[in-house]
Amino acid sequence: MPAAPTTSVPAQPQPGVPVGLPPAPAQPAGVQPSALQPTALRPRPAAKAAAAPPSKKLKPGDLVCGQCGEGNEPVRKFCSRCGQSLATATVASTPWYRRILPHRKAKVLAAGERPGRRGPRSGVNFGAIVRFVRNVVLVLIVVGGIVYAAVPGVRDAVNQRVNSVINSVTGTVAAPTPVHATTVKASGASAGHGGALAVDAFSNTYWSAPLNTEPHPTLTVGFASGTNVTVMLFISGDADNYLAEPRPKELHLVFSNGATQNITLADEAKSQQFDIKGASGITGMTIQIMSVYPSTTGDAVSVSDIEFFGKG
Ligand SMILES: [Zn+2]
Repeated sequence: MPAAPTTSVPAQPQPGVPVGLPPAPAQPAGVQPSALQPTALRPRPAAKAAAAPPSKKLKPGDLVCGQCGEGNEPVRKFCSRCGQSLATATVASTPWYRRILPHRKAKVLAAGERPGRRGPRSGVNFGAIVRFVRNVVLVLIVVGGIVYAAVPGVRDAVNQRVNSVINSVTGTVAAPTPVHATTVKASGASAGHGGALAVDAFSNTYWSAPLNTEPHPTLTVGFASGTNVTVMLFISGDADNYLAEPRPKELHLVFSNGATQNITLADEAKSQQFDIKGASGITGMTIQIMSVYPSTTGDAVSVSDIEFFGKG
């Protein structure tokens, strides 16, 4: 009986065990991580981006990053340059000089259109010319304003010029100019005190009219044709001794155009000013003294000076 072979037979593959592979290394034993006590948070180094000028021109409404200064479109939530939240970003505002100056709106390009100049190159940049002229005018306004404010002579000259322009437009006279008599005739006069001395523009000479021969003396003055008198200055009395002679009290003016005006003077030596109404386009007027402030020593009413102002 042949003995049963003793040689080992190849092992039959066992289910679950790979054939021909080295045995799997031993798995490391599980390690339970030890518990950590909570510690103070270390401060995280802030990603500090240095503030820098925005990379593009700020437009009104842009959100300016508080961290780096970049301008961001209003729809953004985080800075396009540094990533900082824009929740507290400041909104770029329009400078005052941009608000008062006309400016072009941002051009909206049609689909397929390219930015840049449209049409054929003409060689003339009207936009640049307009901007240049605008800047020149701005500089002139600023410099002119400084000169106007700093130099009194320039200020006075400008004010005078502006007033004359306003007057020529509105037809009003802000500062009447002197109107001088071309003729003068008194109804009567004391020797050496003729009527012309009342209108000679000197207040140290005077016209003196005796009241015993003419109780209502008149002074008739002539002007150049078409004169307008708007203001009259009157200085009463004997120039050397105010109380020595009677002073005029009530005047009755008759203009060459037929209009009349009554004036009551105060009994004082200083110049008195009166607005004259209706003396437009006249060639003269008659000033009649209707009553006087009497004097204890003399009986000739005296007038130192009469001056007329208006448009000649
Ligand atoms: Zn930023």
